[in-house]
Amino acid sequence: MTCTYNFNAGPGALPSEVLQEAQEEFLSIHGIGASVMEISHRSKQYEAIHNEAQQLIKELLNLSSEYDVLFLQGGASTQFFMVPINFLAEGKTAGYVHSGTWSGKAWKEAKKLGKTMILASGEKNQFKQLPDIDSLNIPKEMVYVHLTSNETIGGIQFKNFPDTGDVPLVVDMSSDIMSRPIDASKFSLIYAGAQKNLGPAGVTIVIVRRSLLELIPDSIPDILSYGVHAKHNSLFNTPPVFSVYMVNLVLKWIVKKGGLQGMAALNRQKAELIYHVLDNSGGFYQGLVHKESRSMMNITFGACSPEIENKLLKELEQEGFMGLKGHRDAGHLRASIYNAVPYEHCKALADFLVDFKKRNG
Ligand SMILES: *Cc1c(COP(=O)(O)O)cnc(C)c1O
Repeated sequence: MTCTYNFNAGPGALPSEVLQEAQEEFLSIHGIGASVMEISHRSKQYEAIHNEAQQLIKELLNLSSEYDVLFLQGGASTQFFMVPINFLAEGKTAGYVHSGTWSGKAWKEAKKLGKTMILASGEKNQFKQLPDIDSLNIPKEMVYVHLTSNETIGGIQFKNFPDTGDVPLVVDMSSDIMSRPIDASKFSLIYAGAQKNLGPAGVTIVIVRRSLLELIPDSIPDILSYGVHAKHNSLFNTPPVFSVYMVNLVLKWIVKKGGLQGMAALNRQKAELIYHVLDNSGGFYQGLVHKESRSMMNITFGACSPEIENKLLKELEQEGFMGLKGHRDAGHLRASIYNAVPYEHCKALADFLVDFKKRNG
């Protein structure tokens, strides 16, 4: 097998130890003679995996007993409309912080279902800087405030979260969940598609404050109701069993690596390595966003000309660096350095960028 460095934005890299473990158990989970994909989701073997994954999420995020952890399908994109379907009642208003592509998509879906209001927007800065969320003007009767913690495409990430008082704070953490410690008690609902930091595509993690479930109308379809999923411990219908199993293994790997403190320390070192090269290249490379808004997960950058960028991308590919082409809407380059991307791979990328500049600068 050739050595590759995986910087894909999503689905992203998984820990090699986890892939190996899954391979070893692929044909027979825990010695039972069948794959986890072939057994009932109501079997005691599957339920143990399912419940353990929920428990690990609670422990890693230090969740109080007020929260339920759900495993849903449809990706984070389904949460864009599921949140308003559950909580945005007629005549009420939901607030959105617009910080880039993904928060824009979440807002667009909510607008189809009810009244919304933009509380802060980074649009006037072309989303290259985080909007100011320190003094949001939140009307008391607002049903929730929605925010995207890390804009995967633009490459900006919130370091702090707003105090929304009694108004529930809902956050899309798809691309930075479990990458750093957070004060989960600030949030009423956290959702994340698994395929960036937690496992393969197919399962979406939803963490919801139980008191919110009482507000959900019975009139909505069962499959779209957080309350129904919570009541059935996410076994209302068949869950994506293999994805949940993989998430379970990734969570155990995070624990082994020192939990969220461990992840944050490692992620900081990785990001600093690459940003340092950009900032000390004499303008040969440029980060695409304001320094204080920079993401520790998705580093967006460009080189001094389109010709040089093309040459760089070609050479990176030849050298085994994968997934560095920027998003089709953003162009340039993007290095996604999720939890599972090893420090050594970031070092290899940083060294390559320095060498490429020497040869082309
Ligand atoms: C990838 C991503 C999404 C979309 O996730 P899907 O699971 O593909 O629907 C939404 N929000 C953020 C922040 C993302 O990074």
